[in-house]
Amino acid sequence: MKFPVPPSVVPVDNILPDEPLLMMGAGPVPIPHKVASANSVVINHLGDTMNKVIDQVKTMARYVFQTSSSHVMGVSGPASAAMEMAIANLVEPGARVLSVCNGVFSRRLAEMVTRVGGEVVRLDAPEKECARAEAVAEMLKQGRFKVLTLVQGETSNTVWNRELVEICRLGKSHGCLNVVDAVCTLSTMPMEMDDWLVDAVITGGQKGLSSIPGVSLIAFSDDAWSCIERRNAPMAHWCLDARLADQFWDKKAYHYTAPVSGILALHEALRLICDETLPIRFRRHAVCSAALQGGVEAMGLKLLIAPESRLNSVIGITVPEGIDANRIRHVMSELHKVEISGAFGLNILRIGQMGEQSRTHNLFRTLHALGSAMRIEGGKVNMPAGMAEMERILASGA
Ligand SMILES: *Cc1c(COP(=O)(O)O)cnc(C)c1O
Repeated sequence: MKFPVPPSVVPVDNILPDEPLLMMGAGPVPIPHKVASANSVVINHLGDTMNKVIDQVKTMARYVFQTSSSHVMGVSGPASAAMEMAIANLVEPGARVLSVCNGVFSRRLAEMVTRVGGEVVRLDAPEKECARAEAVAEMLKQGRFKVLTLVQGETSNTVWNRELVEICRLGKSHGCLNVVDAVCTLSTMPMEMDDWLVDAVITGGQKGLSSIPGVSLIAFSDDAWSCIERRNAPMAHWCLDARLADQFWDKKAYHYTAPVSGILALHEALRLICDETLPIRFRRHAVCSAALQGGVEAMGLKLLIAPESRLNSVIGITVPEGIDANRIRHVMSELHKVEISGAFGLNILRIGQMGEQSRTHNLFRTLHALGSAMRIEGGKVNMPAGMAEMERILASGA
């Protein structure tokens, strides 16, 4: 034996804080108790019980994606694995892809294209602005593309691609398959896969859906599916091969051992969404996000993105000169047990409004923690004005 003595570690309970942190960052987000409890069960990954679960997950996912496509499947892995599944299956080596980029996640899609041998042309939106359909139309005129990729919401800089519907219409009219990353937005704002001519929609568990991280969802349109069936180039990825995954998700046969507990959690998360209904859920997110934005501004802080390109699902706050975003996060976490996010390199703070984050009690606790941390770090904020404005917007339901 090279290592005869086992390592000495403490149980996980001793590592976790006594008081769980309120997860108000860019994901993962808090999960409802029922989702946590579904996630604690292990069942056979094949057989009648699992088949029922799979059928219902697909039925509910169709509602959430607003599609009648039968090619809806779960993916074992982060949302990035679902992104990779879309790209790896739809892009053959040498295929030209137009990647509309706003930030980290949309550029990740572009990089994935390059890695599977696709030829990517990037259209970068101006900083802090949504991508314009006009600019996409210009690019589409210049050359034939097989696939167009874009994000609905760019979590990294909190930009909303509000012209997505028009961009997808353009993509389709130029013969592209439209691949849309709806990871942070799905079930927080409208996404109508069929009506908007989207060919692949990707989402993760840990954001809008308020499920656990590591089990994701993807839906392919009939057009996307026939492209996958016609594919000649070999698939480098075995786990992410959509035709193999279909064995499990459609034919109920073995592909790999499905993450049964995670799928049960996803089932419960989707069921709660169906219970709430999409219009009411969208409204809840819109009101809560507006209240948070209004509260932050009334407190005297600035939001990063102008209203016309601003995402509701994650809001970006500019940190005043001389104050360190990391210090603010540290104080919020240590003192108030509220966790929010920084950003990739920018001195900003990001607060999520996805799923369970969009609850009145979580909003007040978060805004208070933010204001208090700002004061402690020497910032000038008007906390009463912020709280009052938040309360006013919530009460007016606007
Ligand atoms: C979080 C996020 C991802 C990546 O999700 P992972 O589960 O970390 O892989 C991709 N796209 C967007 C828009 C996201 O918000």
